[in-house]
Amino acid sequence: MDTEAIVIRIKTPTGDMDSPVEYPSLLNFNDLLVAIREVMPEATVTAFEYEDEVGDRITVRSDEELKAMLSYYCNTMNEQRMNGLLPDPLQIFPRAGKTPGIRNIHGLKVNTRPNPANDCTHAVSDTVANNSLKKSSAELKRILSNGQINAQDIQYQEQLGHGNGGTVYKAYHVLGKRVLAVKVIPLDITVELQKQIMSELEILYKCDSPYIITFFGAFFVENRISICTEFMDGGSLDVYKRIPEHVLGRIAVAVVKGLTYLWSLKILHRDVKPSNMLVNTRGQVKLCDFGVSTQLVNSIAKTYVGTNAYMAPERISGEQYGIHADVWSVGISFMELALDMFPYPQIQKNQGSLMPLQLLQCIVDEDPPVLPIAQFSEKFVHFITQCMCRQPKERPAPNNLMDHPFIIQYNDGNAEVVSMWVCRCLEERRAQQGHV
Ligand code: ATP
Ligand code: MG
Repeated sequence: MDTEAIVIRIKTPTGDMDSPVEYPSLLNFNDLLVAIREVMPEATVTAFEYEDEVGDRITVRSDEELKAMLSYYCNTMNEQRMNGLLPDPLQIFPRAGKTPGIRNIHGLKVNTRPNPANDCTHAVSDTVANNSLKKSSAELKRILSNGQINAQDIQYQEQLGHGNGGTVYKAYHVLGKRVLAVKVIPLDITVELQKQIMSELEILYKCDSPYIITFFGAFFVENRISICTEFMDGGSLDVYKRIPEHVLGRIAVAVVKGLTYLWSLKILHRDVKPSNMLVNTRGQVKLCDFGVSTQLVNSIAKTYVGTNAYMAPERISGEQYGIHADVWSVGISFMELALDMFPYPQIQKNQGSLMPLQLLQCIVDEDPPVLPIAQFSEKFVHFITQCMCRQPKERPAPNNLMDHPFIIQYNDGNAEVVSMWVCRCLEERRAQQGHV
């Protein structure tokens, strides 16, 4: 098929939505459906239609039908070009499935399009619609330009690490021509649950922040799910030795910004810890492995029993928790990174961060540890102490986290500091491994 960029025009009741698709051959039916749902969140779109040369509508419900549509469109586009015309965008008409409860038993036709003539609120709703179209445009572009990642297009390279749930590999996506980190998690679950997980993961396409790892897609092959994300060449913070305070400060700014972004989308991270903070040689710091899919988290938890040592006391004791629990985990993580040891000496984290619940009881019972004031700045010590307040409500979140003097001090956009530190550490590591 022609791989030339095309423009898809989604026809919605509130207006047209144009979006360039850089690699039409990478596009699949599901991607397009996700994109349409972004534009029309209120409708249950299950398929879409396009018009053939005589104006008959043809329904697209699968990858095959999508391919047929694209090759039909490419032919007409070529014809238009040969006649010296600018090709029209590919127009598609979303089809909403029937919503239970609003069945039209009499078969009456009702015009559901808003009628500006007798709708006195249209001025307001039009602005809202336009804004949401503008917002979706960025999301749509992102979804469509990523393309779908299929198992057969991935070449696995080395193993990057192994966690409690799965194994992470460096990999190359041949069609997208980019390096990925692919997390492979074995899961023995029903197809229904697989579908639920896939739809829960869709929110990841929406995450668009320089402090959150980019999600490229996920797929199931047999009983394993593979989650494809951006590769970070500096890896995770847990493998770095004691990190100096001026570097930690810049890292903390990124972590706080990443969390604030997730919270704004009503997502709790739930697994803040050094191994889920990634860095690269450009000096970027990004969060990964946040719990967007309840089903995925539950399915993994069934196999791996244990409690995470970075969890807030209220979580360890099984109480309700919220944003403040993430803030505790920030505090304990940064304390560990500053000291180069887990702040509760009686807790030995040998393999990973999952521990039997009883071993973590000291986090619930004891006063939280404090950074030694002689070795660290007053602002940093205060930041950690605030994040690790025993009472969740006393911990800063989210605005006063950004306003904390420690964060303000290092919120200078200086990526160079982290970049140079990552590069130096990687060099040292290579030298130690005898590669230089
Ligand atoms: P847990 O399973 O409890 O979350 P974990 O975070 O150590 O523990 P994984 O999430 O499986 O385990 O990650 C394993 C390792 O893979 C990480 O510690 C990190 O070093 C590496 N890694 C994960 N994602 C990436 C990425 N996007 N880029 C580079 N390295 C990564
Ligand atoms: Mg992880």
